[in-house]
Amino acid sequence: MTTSCRVALVALAATWLILLSTPAQAALISENQEVAIGKQTAAEVEKEYRVDTDLTRNERLNRVAEPLLKVAERKLAWRFRILDDPQINALAVPGGFIYATRGLMEQMPDRELAFVLAHEIQHVEKRHAIRQLEASLYRQVGLAAALQLLTGGRISQGTANTIALANMVVANRYTQDMEREADSDGIRMMARAGLDPRGAVDALRTLQRNNKSSMPKFLNSLVGTHPLNQDRIRHAEELAGSLAFNAAPVPDAQLPATDSVREARVMLALESGPSSLNPDPDLMRLALDLQATSPSESRLEQTQGLVVWTFPENLTESQINHGLMAQEMPRVLGSRTFRRYGVSMVQLPEGRRRVVLVVR
Ligand SMILES: [Zn+2]
Repeated sequence: MTTSCRVALVALAATWLILLSTPAQAALISENQEVAIGKQTAAEVEKEYRVDTDLTRNERLNRVAEPLLKVAERKLAWRFRILDDPQINALAVPGGFIYATRGLMEQMPDRELAFVLAHEIQHVEKRHAIRQLEASLYRQVGLAAALQLLTGGRISQGTANTIALANMVVANRYTQDMEREADSDGIRMMARAGLDPRGAVDALRTLQRNNKSSMPKFLNSLVGTHPLNQDRIRHAEELAGSLAFNAAPVPDAQLPATDSVREARVMLALESGPSSLNPDPDLMRLALDLQATSPSESRLEQTQGLVVWTFPENLTESQINHGLMAQEMPRVLGSRTFRRYGVSMVQLPEGRRRVVLVVR
């Protein structure tokens, strides 16, 4: 064998070694698949924990998230919910589903909460859980089987494949590098959003004081399984101290109700019924009226910036998307532009479902 031939073989072997040892670089899972897996994972989370529908807490969560979403790089249908649990924790699910616990909402002021949300948003922006999932697939089933699993349209909510993948997401844990990246990029995100990045340091101290909390099933949670060490706080201090930020010109309390806040109100009113108190009486009345009606067939209504479509339960997902998005919606809206924001699906009695969209 000639020397040049041997060099070429060594180079080839090295290439294979790199390909095999860095599976996370390959991006096996598309964004659509990520969202389907995320929806399934969110369903698993909500099986395990009750969702807290307290309107004041939910409005606060959406209000604190709002400036961060304005500077988010990925255009996902971000959704924020509260899990009714007294422990201090938070969780990011692929596709943009972010959870904070009631304990976290109660123990952290806005500036600390903003850091936790920025940290969790960064886990999604950087595809951390999906990269862990891709790496697990390589390890457990190999490339060929992983590709087979992920092709052919078999990844959609409710399928056996998707349920298995969601369970893998739940069981995985982030690496310490991923946690560091979520801290650093979360702090930078706060500064970009006009929020004081030093809130991160206070948030990490609050977490350190409450180090005992855990949500054992979800290793990818904020508290997770890594001890919160002094290095993490020191790094946050250095980075936050070095960043300039332009404080948001309008104080939080004066911000107008945004789409996500309005959507959260309507969704929560629809889900929790007349017992909930809503600070926006008009929207509350509208939502409760909608809850009370139960038309016998498909119906699309447009009122007060909301589009509500009620339809029989047995429609398939593609009929819903095709019917709602491609036909019904343009007919009702005419030339008005609209934007889909966190579509909320509500199960009605007598086998009907309802979609609520906010129209802008
Ligand atoms: Zn994290």
